[in-house]
Order: sequence, then structure tokens, then C-alpha cells
Amino acid sequence: MKQLQGQFIFSRSTDTAPVTLTFPDGWINGDPVICDVKGAIFKLPIADISPAEGAKRRRISFVGGHKVYVQATDFPAFLERGKWQKRLELAERGPWYMLALYGVLTAVILWAGTVYLLPRLADSITRYIPDEVVANLSRSTLSTLDNWVLEPSHLSENEQTALQDAFRAFQEEAGISPEIPLLFRRSELLGANAFALPDGPVVILDELVALAPSEEGVMGVLAHEAAHIYHQHNRRNLARSGLFSLLNLAFGFSQFGDNSALLAENLVFSGYSREFEVEADKTARQWLLAQNYDLTAFDEMLEALYHQHCEEPCPDKPTGLFDTHPSLADRLAIEPH
Ligand SMILES: [Zn+2]
Repeated sequence: MKQLQGQFIFSRSTDTAPVTLTFPDGWINGDPVICDVKGAIFKLPIADISPAEGAKRRRISFVGGHKVYVQATDFPAFLERGKWQKRLELAERGPWYMLALYGVLTAVILWAGTVYLLPRLADSITRYIPDEVVANLSRSTLSTLDNWVLEPSHLSENEQTALQDAFRAFQEEAGISPEIPLLFRRSELLGANAFALPDGPVVILDELVALAPSEEGVMGVLAHEAAHIYHQHNRRNLARSGLFSLLNLAFGFSQFGDNSALLAENLVFSGYSREFEVEADKTARQWLLAQNYDLTAFDEMLEALYHQHCEEPCPDKPTGLFDTHPSLADRLAIEPH
């Protein structure tokens, strides 16, 4: 423990008071210094120290704006600029190849953790998410969408019943239970689309029915959405993001700064999303094949959807790291097994 006497000046004030600064054993720059101002104790880290200029008093600036002036003759050697700043320099932490090795090791551990460990851990806790939570999420998502982007369907009652019957028969044959209801809406904003709410229903938009080259194509999309619900993709994502935030808080990407934490999260979750899309495509193809559906109708539907949503000239470029869906070529090549 080292002690030092000086004059304390409060931030945004000219009031001074005598102070005793205490540096606990093992103190390094960045650690708080204990400032005892007439019995009032402040623990403050140092922000800056003025350079030595002859007999001029030295100024220690603290985080928060408070300052302490110390007589030049009293100023201790361990606080000299060269000494206290050097601790932060990388050179003192080890040679560059050790730093590089440390970086690579950290990256490998984080990568393995998020690709292998976290999904397995999260999948095993997925069943503990209460059904009520997921049901509420489905309900509130639908009502938000209904308020903002969805409008009532223009399909005739006959058209709706025909699709509902076909989807019901498809699910019975595939052994999906409980039955996933089908809801009809339209949306100029979303265009040709269908989506599954966390625990159903599947919402299908008029624009998708209009775009479909065949009814088998529509059934392909519905099968894909049903597979998302069947594999509990939304639930699993909930568990993964909960666990990810928890682990991130403990010892994750946030140590590299806010932006890299966000970047890492996007990267990790678009990877999960692609994994789920591939799984949904595989299962959908299995079901369709087992019921003698023509898989080329599903392929045509995927192509039609792709050209509807992509920006001209629609290159089928390789999947980017941040894409949430596999590329069209990848999706068309997915084998149903
Ligand atoms: Zn999907």
C-alpha cells in the first residue's frame, strides 16, 4: 500500500480540500485509487497525469473530472508517465505470436461454442419453455401483423376451403399432430409469402396463391412452413437467443465491444436460421415425396418466389454469411432424406 498527500479539486468547482490518496498493494493503472477527502471516501480510476515540468505541481485527473494536485517533490516514481502507461501496452503482455495464438484460440472456442455447444444445450432446454409463452407470442405476432401489414383475404370461400381441406389431408397423411390451422390474408407490402407463427397457424397470402404455377407448388410452401412448426424452430430460436445473451453477458463477444457483439450475434443467428431452413426444406420434401407430390412443382414454386423477391438481375450468388436463407441453387439441391 502506498499513500500520497495532495489537494483535491472537485469537478466543475474551484473548491479544494486536502486529500490522502491510497494505492492498494498490486495497484495498476485502471484500478480505482482511494481518495480520502476529510473522511469522505471516493474510489476513482485515474484518467490522466500531467507531465513533469520542473518544480510545477503535478496534476492527477480522475475519471469524472475530479483533480488532485501534488507537490513535484512528493510525486512518486511509480506514477511516472512512462511507468503507469506502459502497463497498457501490448508489448508487456507477451510476444506477438502469443497474442495471435490467444486470439485464434478464443475465436475457435467461441466458434465451436456457438456452432456445436450452444444449439445442443438450447435444444435440450427448449421443452421447458412454457406452451403459454409460445402461444402468447404467436397471438401477439399475428395481431401486430394484422394491425400493420395484413389485410383480409380476397380468396373466395370455396378457394379457401379447398386449400384448407388439402392442407388438412396432407397433415393427416404426414402424421402431423395437433393439426396446424391455415389462415388467409393478403398484403401488398409482403407480396407472395407464407409464414408460420411459433406454434401455428400458418398464414398464407393471396399473392402467393396467385403466383403459384400449380396447387402442388402451394402445398410445397405449406409443407415447408409446417415443417418449421413440426421441428419447433421458433421455440428453439427462443432458447438459443436466451442462452446466447446469457453466455455473451458472462464471457462472450461483448468483451470485444458492442459492435462486434452485435456482428457476432447476426452471424451466429443467420447461421442458425439457414440450418433451420435446410431442415424445413428436407422434411417438406420427404413429406411431399411420400405422398407422391411432384417435387418439380415445389422447385418451380421456389424459383417463382425467388424471382419475385430478389432484385434484378437476380444473380444466384453463393450464400453470404449473413443471409438467413440458403441460396436458391442450394435449396433446389436439397435431398429429401
Ligand atoms: Zn422457412
